[in-house]
Amino acid sequence: MPGPDCKEGEKKGRLERAKKTIRFMVALYCGKHHRPEGSLCDECSHLLTYALARIDRCPYGGGKPACSACPIHCYRRREQEEIRRVMRYAGPRMLLWHPVLALLHLLDGVRGRRKG
Ligand SMILES: [Zn+2]
Repeated sequence: MPGPDCKEGEKKGRLERAKKTIRFMVALYCGKHHRPEGSLCDECSHLLTYALARIDRCPYGGGKPACSACPIHCYRRREQEEIRRVMRYAGPRMLLWHPVLALLHLLDGVRGRRKG
């Protein structure tokens, strides 16, 4: 019979998918804008490290309603900008990827105000 492990595993899987996705997105973005050779530039590897750490540390495990409803504002302003840029670029290119939807959901609170 299914124990609590079941849910833990599910949460872990979701985090892994989120991490995999963000790795892919940053690589896609950097490859197009900075380093076509394949390795991430310093800025992008910093951003990736940061994003992965955030995902790891999120107590909600990516299963929370949205970052906008989260009491913890885990993304610093600069990283928010960067992540947003990466997602804006990579997102539409991966719309069929379910993990992206999960990620966008996770980062929902990251959307900035923009004057129309
Ligand atoms: Zn880069």
